[in-house]
Amino acid sequence: MRIANLSGRLVLLIDGRAVDVEKASDGRFPADPQAVYEQWEEFRSWAGAADLPAGAPFEPAELGSPAPAPRQTLAIGLNYRDHAAESGFAAPEGLPPVFTKFVTSITGPVTEVRLPAGGHTDWEVELVAVIGRRAEGVREADAWSHVAGLAVGQDISERVAQLAGPAPQFSVGKSYPGFAPIGPWLVTPDEFDDPDDLELRCAVNGEEVQKGRTRDLIVSVPALIARLSAVLPLLPGDVIFTGTPAGVGLGRDPQRFLAAGDELVSGVEGIGELRQTFVA
Ligand code: ZN
Repeated sequence: MRIANLSGRLVLLIDGRAVDVEKASDGRFPADPQAVYEQWEEFRSWAGAADLPAGAPFEPAELGSPAPAPRQTLAIGLNYRDHAAESGFAAPEGLPPVFTKFVTSITGPVTEVRLPAGGHTDWEVELVAVIGRRAEGVREADAWSHVAGLAVGQDISERVAQLAGPAPQFSVGKSYPGFAPIGPWLVTPDEFDDPDDLELRCAVNGEEVQKGRTRDLIVSVPALIARLSAVLPLLPGDVIFTGTPAGVGLGRDPQRFLAAGDELVSGVEGIGELRQTFVA
């Protein structure tokens, strides 16, 4: 099943066309895409059995994030060995670094992003997981049942702010407006042959800069949910940015950062693509 946020309203995607959930369910489910995760199991049952009307065509630019206002966003650093190495760090032994991307940085999949003045703005394609059922002390073997679905995420990062000061400012350097595009829609885990092995890729102006597979995550999606939910409850609609593979601009020689006019396209196998253009 695929759901999306079409101009602020929850839709089901059927054969690439959008069915408005609030109208099709006669108000049983709300129009607010963020609210559906509170009734996720009930919604899935209804969507699987409902006699749905024909959907309407739409443009990707009309989409918002499928989780536009999570109560918690947890983002994971250094979760691929090749990216930890290019960043000059040893691969983490325990839980990798955890930070947040503040909620005002979240956008839909097709956007224009303003480059912070004087910054070094970088790309990080990531698999994003959205929680569909409260997770507290969850075992790794049970963790996928707490995931509503997967989306593509870009953990856009301004490295000057991120790396300034006595300790890194991950959450600040990665939370400028528009720095957390998510989408283009949410795909439920059952749609994938193996949700633990998906290809991620990212290109700048058509040149591929990142290509990896989620099977190379140091801490997999279910292991992240187990380890994070051992510390804090994960709530319905929470977002997890799971980490980026090698190929970021910071790790290149010479280093390379985004400039005005650049177009960044980020994709995950079986989901779709994000498209960001950058302006000064
Ligand atoms: Zn990241």
